[in-house]
Amino acid sequence: MGMTNVPEIFGTLVFSDDVMQERLPNETYKALKEATTARTSLDPDIAQQVASAMKTWAVEHGATHYTHWFQPMTGFTAEKHDSFITPVGDGKIIMDFSGKELIRSEPDASSFPSGGIRSTFEARGYTAWDPSSPAFIKDDTLCIPSIFCSYGGQVLDKKTPLLRSIQAMDKQAMRIVNIFGNPTGATHCYSTVGGEQEYFLIDRDLFNEREDLVTTGRTLFGAKPPKGQEMEDHYFGTIKPAVKAFMADLDEELWKLGVYSKTEHNEVAPSQHEMAPIFTETNVGTDQNQLTMEIMKSVAKKHNLACLIHEKPFAGINGSGKHNNWSISTDTGVNLFKPGKDPYNNLIFLVMLAAVIKGVDEYQDLLRACVASPGNDHRLGGDEAPPAIVSIYLGDDLLALENAIEAGETMDAMTKTEMKSGVKFIPKFKKDTTDRNRTSPFAFTGNKFEFRMVGSSASLAGPNTMLNTILAEELDGFATILEAVSEDKLEETVRSLVRKTFKEHSRIIFNGDNYSEEWVAEAEARGLENLRTCADAFPAYIREKNLALVEKHKIYTREELTSRYEISMENYCKTLHIEALAMADMVKKAIYPSVLAYMTTVADSIRVKEAISDSVPHESESELLEALATGADALMKNCKGLEAVLDRAEKSEDILAEAEYYRDVVLKGMEDLRAVADELETYTAKDYWPFPTYTELLYSVN
Ligand code: ADP
Ligand code: MG
Repeated sequence: MGMTNVPEIFGTLVFSDDVMQERLPNETYKALKEATTARTSLDPDIAQQVASAMKTWAVEHGATHYTHWFQPMTGFTAEKHDSFITPVGDGKIIMDFSGKELIRSEPDASSFPSGGIRSTFEARGYTAWDPSSPAFIKDDTLCIPSIFCSYGGQVLDKKTPLLRSIQAMDKQAMRIVNIFGNPTGATHCYSTVGGEQEYFLIDRDLFNEREDLVTTGRTLFGAKPPKGQEMEDHYFGTIKPAVKAFMADLDEELWKLGVYSKTEHNEVAPSQHEMAPIFTETNVGTDQNQLTMEIMKSVAKKHNLACLIHEKPFAGINGSGKHNNWSISTDTGVNLFKPGKDPYNNLIFLVMLAAVIKGVDEYQDLLRACVASPGNDHRLGGDEAPPAIVSIYLGDDLLALENAIEAGETMDAMTKTEMKSGVKFIPKFKKDTTDRNRTSPFAFTGNKFEFRMVGSSASLAGPNTMLNTILAEELDGFATILEAVSEDKLEETVRSLVRKTFKEHSRIIFNGDNYSEEWVAEAEARGLENLRTCADAFPAYIREKNLALVEKHKIYTREELTSRYEISMENYCKTLHIEALAMADMVKKAIYPSVLAYMTTVADSIRVKEAISDSVPHESESELLEALATGADALMKNCKGLEAVLDRAEKSEDILAEAEYYRDVVLKGMEDLRAVADELETYTAKDYWPFPTYTELLYSVN
């Protein structure tokens, strides 16, 4: 009653389960589902039938081309379009698509980052169909989600490790489910993700006037606006008409693609917004988030807006993240992170909780590394949440439970208390048992963990790969202990195992204010790591314990993870290099000439006054002129300084030394240059300043 199927509203551009069921022979559909859920290999005959049905459906929906849609290490998605056109002799041409074409394609791999894995003479790379994520139509092209690997079989993308981690986690989680009798008859476990996406929307014409935004995604200059976010009036505020129109269009485009965006609201900073989709299986959710970012940008363009997905588009204003809500579910629909009313007696939940706590503590460095990016450096470890220190927020009830268990005490079932508003006709409702802590990097939120350190532009693949892998590792250890005890000893063994784990890893639990300086000191005393920048965080990838972890669970080979380290470090250096060059360019071609022009105007007005009479005062003009002259000189000095520093940043064999140089020397040069320019902005006349200011950018959409 009252229910409408979403695809019926807008039509669907997804080759979804429903569409497949309609268009494939029953046997074929079943075989395909069987292969993807049970993770067995797929018969080429089945692929042929799927390809044929896919093509017919796609052509009916206006598609003329197809592409394997994959996620190389650039962080973006890649596509290479081929048309369905196939010659059949006698000069005849038909629209065709074979099972072979569906299964694999061969883009030249040599221009994608590989971190030295793939030697240049070995340019071959393959993309291969991932049947567990549905194909969809975008820009009249059938997009087929795919993995990407080299001729030698090494991973060159982000999807393959994610799929491997889901497999590894499934294997270990099923051992745990079976230890507890598997009451629902589950055969598989999978992880789920709901990625809340933050972004800024600004006027497109203003965006185009800023070289920094266009080339680097963030502002490299800009004095603090008189009004930033201090009034706290934007969060959940009324959505302006232009933004509302954008959101309505965005929802429509996303729903057609099977991305069920559910909540749209204003965020903390002016012009900042958020979209949260309905969660789904991690692999699909990761693909959907890539698609979401792309669609956000293209819909914004249609509305003459620019969508900024960078982690820190504006200094001094909150940055953007991507909250990664993560949970584990059985194929029979049981959420293993759900505490229920009586968590003390929910043994499987206690085991899962203990595994997460132990895993996050032992691999805090790896979790930090997998969310590190040059953009995210301005958020994490900056003066906003979450910090660069990994810790877990449990909420009051679970913290009480954890404390009780650690102390060897029992605990009663939890009761939800009723919320009283003090107004009689307001319907009564029950309060949640966990409050929120917006400052925590890793928070338990009722039946899932919310990993909040992920940057807004990042792929969800990395963090979920690591979360699944870490969980697999801890569950493996627990399962081995628990499988060895007889049934009558199970509860006792679980209780002592959980207690021991809580005791040994309670340092990672922190329910307080993660922004505070006291926490930084306390975390240090607890021995938690504080890896502030990319140059500090990425080396965690190649620590022995982490290489051993990914190798053991067959997520990455050592070589593959080492290559991730190299690619990430190189990307850090390159990004800072480009930003620094863009700054120098803007100073020399725009800011400096503008200030000189304004100086001339001010000098002219002094001369005019002097021409009238010596007694006409021009003290303020002279003061201003002097400030401008001094500022302009300092500006060029700092600009030359930055260029000299960049010249010295030679590509070094030692990638760590190079990254540290960028962190300590180049970044410092950039900060010095910006400080002078931002100061000059505050006393240069508006008409002379060469590009839109923060106030103009942040309040441009109405
Ligand atoms: P909260 O109120 O804690 O923010 P919401 O229900 O608004 O929770 O969900 C926030 C995000 O978390 C949404 O994208 C939602 O789909 C996702 N989410 C909810 N439950 C789960 C789950 N079990 N696994 C993964 N993501 C989930
Ligand atoms: Mg949230």
